[in-house]
Amino acid sequence: MTEAPTAALGAAPGPLRQRQPHPDAQAPLAFGAHAREALANANLQRALHHVKEGFQDKRLAAMDRLPEFDALRDAARDIKDHVLAHLDIYLERFATAVEARGGHVHWARDAAEARAMVLDICRRENARTVTKGKSMVAEEIGLNPFLEENGIEPVETDLGEYIVQLRGETPSHIIAPAIHVVKEEIADAFRREHEGLAPERDLTDRRALLDEARVVLRRRYFQADVGITGANFLVAETGSGVIVTNEGNGDMTRTLPRVHVALATIEKIVPTLDDLAVLLRVLARSATGQDFSTYTTVYTGARRPDDPDGPEAFHVVLLDNGRSALLGGELREVLRCIRCGACMNHCPVYQRVGGHAYGWVYPGPIGAIMTPALTAIATSHPLPNASTLCGRCEEVCPVRIPLPKLLRYWRTEAAAAGLPPLAERLGLTLWAWLARRPALYRLAVRQIARRLKARAGDRGALRRLPLMGGWAGHWLQGRDLPAPQGRSFMDQWRAQKKGTRL
Ligand code: SF4
Repeated sequence: MTEAPTAALGAAPGPLRQRQPHPDAQAPLAFGAHAREALANANLQRALHHVKEGFQDKRLAAMDRLPEFDALRDAARDIKDHVLAHLDIYLERFATAVEARGGHVHWARDAAEARAMVLDICRRENARTVTKGKSMVAEEIGLNPFLEENGIEPVETDLGEYIVQLRGETPSHIIAPAIHVVKEEIADAFRREHEGLAPERDLTDRRALLDEARVVLRRRYFQADVGITGANFLVAETGSGVIVTNEGNGDMTRTLPRVHVALATIEKIVPTLDDLAVLLRVLARSATGQDFSTYTTVYTGARRPDDPDGPEAFHVVLLDNGRSALLGGELREVLRCIRCGACMNHCPVYQRVGGHAYGWVYPGPIGAIMTPALTAIATSHPLPNASTLCGRCEEVCPVRIPLPKLLRYWRTEAAAAGLPPLAERLGLTLWAWLARRPALYRLAVRQIARRLKARAGDRGALRRLPLMGGWAGHWLQGRDLPAPQGRSFMDQWRAQKKGTRL
C-alpha cells in the first residue's frame, strides 16, 4: 500500500451504521423473490460479472501450475475425514495444548452460549470497542448486533466486511463479503460515513478508496480493547490457530488489542502442522487462485515475556451449534468444508443472483446444504432447489464434498415432509407414476414430443408451454424452448442395440 494522504490522517471516523438485524432462522427463506430482485438489480449484475475472471480463471491457472493438485485434494479429503472420525480426541488435544500455553478454551453448544461467552470476556476487559477480523462464525451467531445491543462497538477490519458494515448489510460471499458492491457504491458509503473529510475529495479510483479505508481503520485498531478473529484452522498438536488473509487485518486484529478471542467451529481442527500444510496448499489455490495467501499466520497462545508484540490474553470459543449432530448422519461430509468459496464461484445460480438471495449466512451450494442443517428444512427448503445439479461445485471442491448428492438429500427430505408447493408435488407424483410404467412412459414422451414439435411449427422453438404458466412461464420469459427434434433418446438407444441406423 502507498502512504495515505496526510490530509486524511486527522480525519475522525464517523460512527458505524447499525447492521441489519441477524437473519431470523425461523422465518421462511423466500429465495424466489430474492432471486428476482437480484436479477433486476443492475449494479449487482455488474458486480457479479467479475466472478469469472476474478476467481474461476485464476483458480484454473493455479491448477495448471501444480500438477499434483488432484492428489493434494485426495489428501485434504482424507485428513478431514480422519479428523471427523476422531473429533473428540483432537478437540481435547487442542484444548490441552492451548491451556498449557496459558490460553482459555470456552465450549459453546449454540449461538446464544457463544455470544454470551464473547460478551463476558469483553465486559471483564471493560471493552467499549472491539475490532474484528473476517469471521463467518460471527455472522452465524449474530455477534455484531448482539455486541451493539450491549453497548460495545464492533469494527470490521477486513475491507469487504468493513464496506458491508458501513452499508448496514451482511456479507454476500464467504471470502469476498462485498463482492456485490460496485466501486461507486463504496465511494457513496465512505462519503456518508467518514465524517470530517473534504466532501469534494476524489474517490473515483480504487487506490483512493483503499487509502481512505486504511487511514480510518488504523485509528480503530489502536482504539480497540479486544480483537475478535475467526480461525481458518486450529492445530491440535500445538494448540495453534491459523489466520489466512490478503490484507494483514487478521494479524493486526489479533496482536494490537490487549485480548484476542478466536471464534471457531469444532470442525476447524487439524491434527498436525504437516496436515495443515496440505490444507493450506489447496485452500488459497481454490479460493483466489494464489499459490499462498499473502498473510498466513500460525500463532500459539498469548504474548510470551520475550515476544515483541501480541495480546496479553488469548481465548478460543469453540462452537458446536448443531455440527456434532451431523457427524453420524448423511450430511457428515459437509463438515469437511474449508470455506474456500470455490463452489459458489463456479455455481451458475450464485453467479446470477449473488449471496443475499440465499437469505442466511452461508450462500451458494454449500449454503444450500448448511442452512437447512443448521436451521430447519421447513424454513429453508427452497435453497436445495436453487441448483441445476450441474456438478461444477463438486468438481472444484478442494475436499471433494459431494455437494449435488447432499442437495438431493435435502430435496428428498423436503418432499417427504410435504414442503414443496402442491403443484410441484402433484407433478412429481404423476411423473413417478409414469416412470414406473416404461411402455406408457415411452408412449407419453412420443406424444408430448410430437405435439410440442407441431406447436413450434417452422420456428422450431416455443415461447409458451401449455398448462405451465408458473415456473415454466418465468423460465420462458427470457428464452425460447427448442422443440424436440427427431426420435427420443430411448428410441435411439433401442435402435442402436438392434444394430439399426440412428
Ligand atoms: S464446499 Fe468445498 S468448494 Fe464450497 S466452500 Fe466448502 S470447501 Fe470450498
